[in-house]
Amino acid sequence: MNSGEFRRRGKEMVDFVADYLEGIERRQVYPDVEPGYLRPLIPTTAPEEPDTFEDILNDVEKIIMPGAASPACTELETVMMDWLGKMLKLPEAFLAGQVGEGGGVIQGSASEATLVALLAARTKVVRRLQAASPGLMQGAIMEKLVAYSSDQAHSSVERAGLIGGVKLKAIPSDGKFAMRASALQEALERDKAEGLIPFFVVATLGTTSCCSFDNLLEVGPICNKEDMWLHIDAAYAGSSFICPEFRHLLNGVEFADSFNFNPHKWMLVNFDCSAMWVKKRTDLIGAFKLDPLYLKHGHQDSGLITDYRHWQLPLGRRFRSLKMWFVFRMYGVKGLQAYIRKHVRLAHEFERLVHQDPRFEVCAEVTLGLVCFRLKGSNKLNEDLLERINRAKKIHLVPCHLRDKFVLRFAICARTVEFAHVQRAWEHIRQLATDLLRAEKD
Ligand SMILES: *Cc1c(COP(=O)(O)O)cnc(C)c1O
Repeated sequence: MNSGEFRRRGKEMVDFVADYLEGIERRQVYPDVEPGYLRPLIPTTAPEEPDTFEDILNDVEKIIMPGAASPACTELETVMMDWLGKMLKLPEAFLAGQVGEGGGVIQGSASEATLVALLAARTKVVRRLQAASPGLMQGAIMEKLVAYSSDQAHSSVERAGLIGGVKLKAIPSDGKFAMRASALQEALERDKAEGLIPFFVVATLGTTSCCSFDNLLEVGPICNKEDMWLHIDAAYAGSSFICPEFRHLLNGVEFADSFNFNPHKWMLVNFDCSAMWVKKRTDLIGAFKLDPLYLKHGHQDSGLITDYRHWQLPLGRRFRSLKMWFVFRMYGVKGLQAYIRKHVRLAHEFERLVHQDPRFEVCAEVTLGLVCFRLKGSNKLNEDLLERINRAKKIHLVPCHLRDKFVLRFAICARTVEFAHVQRAWEHIRQLATDLLRAEKD
């Protein structure tokens, strides 16, 4: 949608809302529809080609409005999470379908999804151990629980451990910044020998620092064998898995109990929209379900009939699946794939430019839209270069440490970015590097 159409559609939406408010007394307060009404009214998969805005808006009136906020809000979310799960080719077990045990839920952020997974895993292990040894106190179990992630995991994982009141240990990553079986196994054996109870592992696909990938095919089987909950954090990289050429990065997801990524990061859906799937919804519901009388509606949880309040921390929730529905239909799967591919192509163009200048080095494998690079030389030199870049305010870079190296990160992320922007940014960086190296010499 170009800005001309956006202006027109935006103004039409104001009319749509005003008409609704003017006519509100003629509408029914409580919907006639039965739970499960919505799924038969919309396709089972996202469209490959774009739909028109008119078509989508007509469907809002025809399909959503008769279902009011409830059950339409819940049911569209379940169906959209199935659409998205199919786009990623997630194993069937993660989908809700009509009667599935799994399913997806929109959380506010990847941090929240990790916390929810950790709390569910905690409850599960406590109940399992108490069932095996009646009389065992929850506190006695809790103080022995230990969770793991790689030393490259996002800080939100450590925070989930803090909030959840369990130990979290960082597993040293390998030369490509990936968590591997041997390092995890070593930590496990040591901790078990000390009487600790390993219960939860977070694997990261697409780390924040350098977009590295933990080795799921190695880590997954260990988690299954040791009865540890495996959560996958693919906050950024997850969007790319809708492209067949990147789907292999998700191989091993079949070992996971929960999987999460942020369509609001790289799939054109506005903040906030963090997509989380679980294989066994009863694991979440079991951890968070309380049913006071004022919240009783009298139906069972399975497939489409879902009570998302048991899948999350808050009670109330917004109608966040509407924006997924609009984006998937406005772009079509092909349009979203093209968007991802363009960003990855531009990242590789930038990588090629960096390689052409012998003063610079690329510091990690470029897989998606992130290029880690630096001037060959000291950390101080690169800190000075970053300072010049960010002080000039033409582009903005966020650095990271890879082991002992201070590294600059060039991230392709704007919706409208073109090669000309990348080229201009690189010329700017080169010029500032030249200025810096000259000043150093003088
Ligand atoms: C961005 C990011 C997060 C944090 O995402 P929020 O949705 O802001 O909580 C977590 N993990 C990874 C790997 C990320 O890239």
